[in-house]
Amino acid sequence: MYSKFKSVVLLAIFFTLPSLVGAAQIPDFSGQEAMEFLVTQCELGPRIPGSEANLALRNLIVSKARKLKLSVTVHAFQTEMPMGNSPVELGNIIVSAGERDFSPGTRFWLGAHYDTRPISDRDPDPGNHSKSIDGANDGASGVAVLWHLMDILAENPPSMGVDLLFFDGEDSGTSGQLNSFCIGSQKLASTMGDFDNPLEAASCRGLIVLDMIGDKDLFVPMEGYSLRNAPEFTRFIFQRAVNLGLPGFSMTPGRAVFDDHVPFLQQGIPAVDLIDFDYSVWHTQGDVPSACSPASLQQVGDLLIDVIYRP
Ligand SMILES: [Zn+2]
Repeated sequence: MYSKFKSVVLLAIFFTLPSLVGAAQIPDFSGQEAMEFLVTQCELGPRIPGSEANLALRNLIVSKARKLKLSVTVHAFQTEMPMGNSPVELGNIIVSAGERDFSPGTRFWLGAHYDTRPISDRDPDPGNHSKSIDGANDGASGVAVLWHLMDILAENPPSMGVDLLFFDGEDSGTSGQLNSFCIGSQKLASTMGDFDNPLEAASCRGLIVLDMIGDKDLFVPMEGYSLRNAPEFTRFIFQRAVNLGLPGFSMTPGRAVFDDHVPFLQQGIPAVDLIDFDYSVWHTQGDVPSACSPASLQQVGDLLIDVIYRP
């Protein structure tokens, strides 16, 4: 009985050892740390394009990247906003880590919008419609994951190039007018190769956009535009999530959402939008940190770590 037990233990060690060695090279993502930055963003106030809070967040991201010695570019431009009377300066931020290799298909791009919606036009109380949202899930969640990834990428330089894209001006659009949304990403996608835009289209292996991925009750199906225009890349990413046993991801087709990935799909870049659009407090005063959870951010972080470090 004893020796049988001993051999079982030895066998267990033998079979566990190689996977432990492999696992040591894959860094850990902390949903809790990401959650802390989700809350910090909300404490800044609504990050409406052109506002002080928007600029403060931009500065936080830029200074963190510099401190971590990651390369950072602000792609800024003046534009009229659909709801504003005067032009504002939008600023997409591009933070790069890993190999400085720009040969075809060698880099992953990860994106999220850091601006928030100036109005709560879906709030059940019409008296709230003119108030701006906190954007805990709609904005801060994706940025929180990228923020924590900056630390991980700086500490564990990946074998491939990774570019983090923080989009401005995603959520100031007018309902029913698709092109009035995603103004930052539209400009970034249409100026690739210009002197002030460090993105080289050919180098991109795929773009993963994160939007509204902090919902406590996470359910991310395969978004419609992604599945239609980049089926291989979309299935590749979702298969990873399924293999990792992440319960919030499902390989079922979801609805199509005009989001920051669309301008890149239009330029022929394989892009997938990870979005949980089934969020009852979307564009209301209820989009606050208590509607989000570190466990959801953890799932998204685990998926990205797997994609980056096991390409
Ligand atoms: Zn939104």
